[in-house]
Amino acid sequence: MQLHNTLGRAVEQLKPLRSGEVSIYSCGPTVYRYAHVGNLRTYIFSDLLRRSLEYLGLRTRQVMNITDVGHLTEDDFDRGEDKMLVSARLENKSPEEIAEFYTAAFLEDIRKVNIRPADEYPRATAYIPQMQGLIERLIERGHAYRAGGNVYYDIASFPEYGKLSGNSVDKLLAGTRGDPDPRKKAPGDFTLWKAAGAKRLQVWDSPWGSGFPGWHIECSAMSTAMLGERFDIHTGGADNVFPHHEAEIAQSEGALGHPVVGCWVHAEHLLLSGARMAKSAGNFFRITEIEEMGHDPLAFRYLALQARYRAKLNFGLEGLAGADRALRLLRGRVAAWSAEPAAGADGGEAYAERFRSALADDLDLPAAMALVAEVGRAPIPGALKARLLLDFDRVLGLDLDRDLGERALPAGAAELLRRRERARAERDYATSDQLRHELAEMGVQVTDSADGQLWKTTGPA
Ligand code: AMP
Ligand code: ZN
Repeated sequence: MQLHNTLGRAVEQLKPLRSGEVSIYSCGPTVYRYAHVGNLRTYIFSDLLRRSLEYLGLRTRQVMNITDVGHLTEDDFDRGEDKMLVSARLENKSPEEIAEFYTAAFLEDIRKVNIRPADEYPRATAYIPQMQGLIERLIERGHAYRAGGNVYYDIASFPEYGKLSGNSVDKLLAGTRGDPDPRKKAPGDFTLWKAAGAKRLQVWDSPWGSGFPGWHIECSAMSTAMLGERFDIHTGGADNVFPHHEAEIAQSEGALGHPVVGCWVHAEHLLLSGARMAKSAGNFFRITEIEEMGHDPLAFRYLALQARYRAKLNFGLEGLAGADRALRLLRGRVAAWSAEPAAGADGGEAYAERFRSALADDLDLPAAMALVAEVGRAPIPGALKARLLLDFDRVLGLDLDRDLGERALPAGAAELLRRRERARAERDYATSDQLRHELAEMGVQVTDSADGQLWKTTGPA
């Protein structure tokens, strides 16, 4: 697999540390608000990465953090409130209740777009001792200093600071806004530990007094605690490159004295009307809104497959509706093809090989989707088309098998069968008999078995 490494800005051959297995750390959500489809684009990217690696024969272990404390920018620090706490106050709940609620919502949202759950979801609040351990180590090694009850990272102590984002320290300093914090040695130093203000709810004791961790230290602590001192891939969205991942490198490498991450991979943003989709700007859609418009949430996944992960992607409702139509059509065709004689299903290695090459080429999913279309047009038996596309769907995750078995039904019959199943589950036998009658008139004969209802088409009565 060739992947673009942000560190070095080049496409590289992935060389897993352990043969046959790839360890992945993916920056996850801050659970103080609902995720929007922009966030989901980044999570779909890491899901596609993982599924592609597995399709290519590797095992994967993915860890995704849940940020349930802080996520402070330097600006928020000085206002003394972070996003978790603002939400807690506005919704009149404890930070723990907020985190639990939005974690559940996140897991539900990713399920809707067929993102397979990570192997583990460590919560930041469960890793405070590890964060403190790292901070102590950074102080010992001369990379961090105390000032008041705060601890700051001394960026001058890490000459490679800026290597990920390509920012020179001079440029970084020029970019800092407002009055510099007088306790910092340099304005670009970032906070590792922050003394608790009067009104904070989430505070922990520490060697430096009671307080709470900075956001960046969370990911250094959780990634190395879960995946070890070296792991293969670290993913995130483009906005994570600086400052979040630049700081993570300074922290992890400063504490351990060696490189930790093999390949840094960043997904570009989803845009809405030309601007980055963002919670704070209020220009966003949730996946549930897309569903409420009558679209299949997987239409969004289909849309995400149309662009390479390193390209910005514009989100629009027209494009989404087009993706929804194309997806439904594709499922119908896969169902029809799969009904063709199975004898023609062999072969197709050349297509499968091209699919693998597209994935291995820095996840070229647009090329993979073009191949899907090509297979559809190819002069090969339908059963083979169906077998190939259902195999590709292990990566694409579009539920291309959804219409299988419903193919021969006359229009509307599938819905009646679903209603009848519900009626039977509710022991509403009057409705179930009525529906059986309606289906018979459409030419669908229904019988009941221990495993549920069975049907066959008999032609119009
Ligand atoms: P947050 O919950 O704000 O920390 O964001 C979660 C993830 O979504 C991060 O990895 C961000 O880089 C990513 N992200 C935020 N906005 C967008 C966007 N408009 N498009 C794609 N990814 C995004
Ligand atoms: Zn992170």
